[in-house]
Amino acid sequence: MDFSLTEEQKQLQMKARTFALEYVLPVVHKYDDIGITPLHVIEEAWKAGLMNLDIPKKYGGNEYGLLESALVVEEIAAAGPGMATSIFANGLGEEPLLMSENDSLKEEICKDLLKDFGLISFATSEPVMGSDVGGMICKADKDGNEWVLNGKKYWITNAGLAKYISLFANADPKSRHKGICGFLIRTDKEGVTTGRPIEKMGHRCSNTTVVDLKDYRVPPGDVLAEPGKGFPLAMKTFARTRPIIGAMATGLARSAMEWAIHYVKKRKAFGQPLTEFQALQFKIAEMYQKVETSRLMTWRASWDADNGRNPLLWASMTKFYATEIALEVASDALQCYGGYGYVKYMPIEKLFRDAKLYQIYEGTTEIQKLIISRHALGDYQPIMPSIEDVPYAPVDEDWLEKTEYLNDIVQSKGAKKAWRCRICGHVHYGDEPPEECPVCKYPKGVFKEVWSR
Ligand SMILES: Cc1cc2nc3c(=O)[nH]c(=O)nc-3n(C[C@H](O)[C@H](O)[C@H](O)COP(=O)(O)OP(=O)(O)OC[C@H]3O[C@@H](n4cnc5c(N)ncnc54)[C@H](O)[C@@H]3O)c2cc1C
Repeated sequence: MDFSLTEEQKQLQMKARTFALEYVLPVVHKYDDIGITPLHVIEEAWKAGLMNLDIPKKYGGNEYGLLESALVVEEIAAAGPGMATSIFANGLGEEPLLMSENDSLKEEICKDLLKDFGLISFATSEPVMGSDVGGMICKADKDGNEWVLNGKKYWITNAGLAKYISLFANADPKSRHKGICGFLIRTDKEGVTTGRPIEKMGHRCSNTTVVDLKDYRVPPGDVLAEPGKGFPLAMKTFARTRPIIGAMATGLARSAMEWAIHYVKKRKAFGQPLTEFQALQFKIAEMYQKVETSRLMTWRASWDADNGRNPLLWASMTKFYATEIALEVASDALQCYGGYGYVKYMPIEKLFRDAKLYQIYEGTTEIQKLIISRHALGDYQPIMPSIEDVPYAPVDEDWLEKTEYLNDIVQSKGAKKAWRCRICGHVHYGDEPPEECPVCKYPKGVFKEVWSR
């Protein structure tokens, strides 16, 4: 097991950190206030090579693994969670394309996204369904060799600004999962429009809109998955993107913790720095432990994906844990600030609002728990025998006779008094306490009579 990063990974992490501090942090609070996406910042991330990280080398990309993506995402989310959502929505939109069997489309879109700045969104959710992906009703009808799409997708990150959308629709809603297929939508074509940005509680500088499809025609070359192959493709996508949400949550929690540390060091109450109060020291300890654990889980889930293992389980555990602790840490950090944590002039209240979304998109916490419990109750192979098969061997009595301390207990049979050592709790049976406690070696005087007959 090796948790160290390579030199290349460390350089990438530093590059992302510098970008986050120079380009994201200074502007993100203002854009969050006004609820507008700073497209120029996303474009700067593109220019810096911090977007489209997993595009394969054969198309001109860096072909980074999930671990590299997680390193970059943590830094950007630490400066601005909403910006991270928007910048890394391209990764989400690209996954179904990269995992599809449509090689010519892959080549065309990947090369285009590297050559010119452009956004690609991902769309499964609809106005009346989100968690229940199999229940999607956006309709795909075959017409000759083309597909015709009608319906609405909702909550689609970056859709109002995107050039492409990896979109899932259903050829036969009655058959649920079996009818789901996937398509690449080109937003400059007829038949697709988006709505005004949805006003949100957090991630306000990330664009989220409806996608409305009216007789949108998909040529055969833009198909990502035929009916039946769409649902597994969407699920495989989530298994690769949930660790990245873990990285975002880690970054958010890290900043909340750092700003809490900063504040408790300088603020005084009752004549002493807040750092002198154990209640706050312990809050900081808990935050620190949660941030580090969250990062470990993110790296582990990413490692699974990068090493050809199915990342599904760790992806869900990571998303579940990291997003829960992000909200807890943001809440505790806000508490450390007292009233100042609750005002708009401080960045903490924004982190608190931003943290909530992580528990909702890309599968709610409840959906992650379903996946984990399905594994624990299904495929998981227990090490222990079942409870009724647990062996219960008797004590070997010959051996017991030779064991001085156990004999104490055996010889307690028939004893008239019990004495407890007030130092270590050892109980001695007999008329008198022993000269010294056999466990802690304190003299006779420490024994107190606790029982007699
Ligand atoms: C800001 C934002 C950005 C988003 N971006 C995108 C995007 O880019 N692309 C996209 O496709 N979607 C996107 N989404 C949609 C998001 O993925 C969904 O909101 C999410 O999956 C939950 O679906 P829902 O809102 O329909 O809630 P519902 O599915 O209606 O769930 C409501 C509640 O019931 C619970 N629940 C549902 N089913 C079960 C169950 N079986 N067991 C236990 N509890 C259950 C849920 O956990 C939740 O608490 C985005 C959402 C937001 C808010």
